[in-house]
Amino acid sequence: MDMEKSLSSKRYQLAEDKGLCPECGAQMDEISRLNEGNIAYVWLQCVQEGCCGRWLQKKLCSELKISTA
Ligand SMILES: [Zn+2]
Repeated sequence: MDMEKSLSSKRYQLAEDKGLCPECGAQMDEISRLNEGNIAYVWLQCVQEGCCGRWLQKKLCSELKISTA
């Protein structure tokens, strides 16, 4: 059960870092974004039919600028 725990935390890590669905591993689409000072909250939603995977990424704006450059 420790293995299962680390597997799901790895999925959450991928969701946070790469925008992959924590449920099925597909690429998620950005559905909305909220900026609050230097922090951006990005809502992602899975595009796979029948999957309701969602993730809220929390990024520093400076970090986003680097990754989209
Ligand atoms: Zn999914």
